[in-house]
Amino acid sequence: MNQQRIAIIGAGISGLACATELVKCGFEVSIFDKSRGVGGRMSHRYYQEWGADHGAQYFTVKDERFAEEVKKWEASGNAKAWGGKIVSLDNGNITDLKSERNRYVGVPTMSAPAKYLASTLNISLLHTITELKWNKPLRGSKNKNGTWQLVSKEQGLLPQEFDHVVLAIPSPQAKVLIGEYSDQLTETCDQVVMLPCWTLMAYLKTPLKLDFDGAFVQSHLFSWIARDSNKPGRSLYESWVAQASSDWSLENIDLSQPEAEALLLKGFKELTGAECDLYQTHLWRYSKLETPSETNFVIDTHLNMSLCGDWLRNSTVEGAWMSGHTLAQRLSLMDSIDTL
Ligand SMILES: Cc1cc2nc3c(=O)[nH]c(=O)nc-3n(C[C@H](O)[C@H](O)[C@H](O)COP(=O)(O)OP(=O)(O)OC[C@H]3O[C@@H](n4cnc5c(N)ncnc54)[C@H](O)[C@@H]3O)c2cc1C
Repeated sequence: MNQQRIAIIGAGISGLACATELVKCGFEVSIFDKSRGVGGRMSHRYYQEWGADHGAQYFTVKDERFAEEVKKWEASGNAKAWGGKIVSLDNGNITDLKSERNRYVGVPTMSAPAKYLASTLNISLLHTITELKWNKPLRGSKNKNGTWQLVSKEQGLLPQEFDHVVLAIPSPQAKVLIGEYSDQLTETCDQVVMLPCWTLMAYLKTPLKLDFDGAFVQSHLFSWIARDSNKPGRSLYESWVAQASSDWSLENIDLSQPEAEALLLKGFKELTGAECDLYQTHLWRYSKLETPSETNFVIDTHLNMSLCGDWLRNSTVEGAWMSGHTLAQRLSLMDSIDTL
């Protein structure tokens, strides 16, 4: 099915994994993302001279195919094992958590593996896709299924035509683009719930005297806090990331940024005893999947449209990568998207 033109919406790790494999199999792939950079929820926010990973914190490796990929990230200097001390923190009681699997982080930031993958791909950033437009096949055309064109908020109708569209974006955002085109794909989106996460990034002039680098927090508004500056390759500034639990984030999803900030700063002080010298907050509306799935990806063969992303597997870097990678392998096994 060489030389088929595929548009991928979303340059998160699932879209990038899908594109990498498709290009390897000879497809012509164009990726579009609304952000200024790639990586989606594997992201890092810079603020003045400091910064922190405010999305994915680290990743683990189970599947052999993902292990092979992570070896490439390590060999190219874009990921490293993170030996930070991780504990469970429950009302001041600390229990050491030993993980059987290695924990890895992107280096120098969590978005490094995504940037590495993106470096050889054709990506248009600052393109918020608002609509998909299907063109009927022209009489006598080789393409019997018609073509897709994309409409972006920034550029309007884009001139390129595609044989297949992959939506590598969270389910609520995918559902908007699917619109009336496919009941099958809309139903898939409706089957999952994605939960929000309010996140605090804190810079402290004085290092916190806590005997751990990451903690799963119980019975508190935060469910995770981590000393971001402990990860390999980070700046020397003491920076922490604190993520509110899904329950708390859901209850407080409608708070204004200043209202949420006040509560997050109060919670951080309660938990660590520290006042933040500088801080940033962010609301991830679609942070993670409520219940893991085994769908992996979905292809609507009549429409020539597919879905991939963490929400079709589980909300991990590995889950998202596997979803995009396995979708690409399935598409490459089809004789011709055009003749399905
Ligand atoms: C706070 C938080 C903590 C996490 N912690 C961990 C962790 O510790 N370990 C772990 O393994 N995983 C963690 N995850 C999950 C992990 O980050 C995700 O599972 C993974 O990054 C999802 O990748 P993706 O490609 O499926 O989606 P995304 O990364 O969301 O990528 C989707 C991309 O699509 C773009 N996009 C969306 N709509 C449009 C549109 N209309 N037009 C153009 N572009 C669009 C977005 O800008 C984005 O770049 C965490 C996530 C969050 C939010």
